[in-house]
Amino acid sequence: MTLFDSHAHYDDERFAREYEGGAHAALRAAKAAGVGYIVNSGADLETSRASIALSHSSGGELPEIFASVGIHPTETGKYPSREHAMAELYELAKTPRVVAIGEIGLDYHYPDTDRETQKEFFRAQLELARELGLPVVIHDRDAHGDVFEILRGFRDVKTLLHCYSGSAEMARQYADAGVYMSFGGVLTFKNAEKTREAARAIPHELLMLETDAPYLAPVPHRGELNFSAYMTYTAGALGELRGVGADEAAATAAENSKRFYGIV
Ligand SMILES: [Zn+2]
Repeated sequence: MTLFDSHAHYDDERFAREYEGGAHAALRAAKAAGVGYIVNSGADLETSRASIALSHSSGGELPEIFASVGIHPTETGKYPSREHAMAELYELAKTPRVVAIGEIGLDYHYPDTDRETQKEFFRAQLELARELGLPVVIHDRDAHGDVFEILRGFRDVKTLLHCYSGSAEMARQYADAGVYMSFGGVLTFKNAEKTREAARAIPHELLMLETDAPYLAPVPHRGELNFSAYMTYTAGALGELRGVGADEAAATAAENSKRFYGIV
């Protein structure tokens, strides 16, 4: 089984604290479990830089690691000058091994980040992706309507909704627009029938697998530190609900991820 983890955060300090040997040990174990590729995602300028640094330690005992760079909606409040932040992001985005802009989007779960600021950063980063010809990785938490509305203006930008959490109906509408969707550990959660329904509704060529590590570990590791080797459980769940088996689900998802990120 070849696994492609389309979205993870190995720069997260939880790896140093909770995985013996830290992120590099976790990455070695992931490679040994069949994980060939990982896209490590930034959530602000600092973690975008960390993602790029991590991408340089690819290959050999480790999976091939690529970076996506972007400012997550809940981090937008810490940049008083959007122009300065965007100028820096522009430079990072042109670095080798950067394959996407992300994660970007909207998050209305907590009320502490101004929604207008989030939208301004979201639009500016979509413009940047368009200008550089890069795909985008979208974070959408409790903001389905506004994300859908804004993305409507960027149909020409290749888009991935990571940890898809919307309805099956909305998944169909996104699929009609050629938008990719990725699924992680939530697919194995007992109470996640809505997410499984969405994963059933999407054409196979738009499906991807991810971990969002260190978050959202699949059953039977729910609540623990997540890492890419646990994708075998998620691939199993996807294979079962699509009626194709874990190997085929993983292979299709890996192929789609390579095509989406432009990795050959
Ligand atoms: Zn993430």
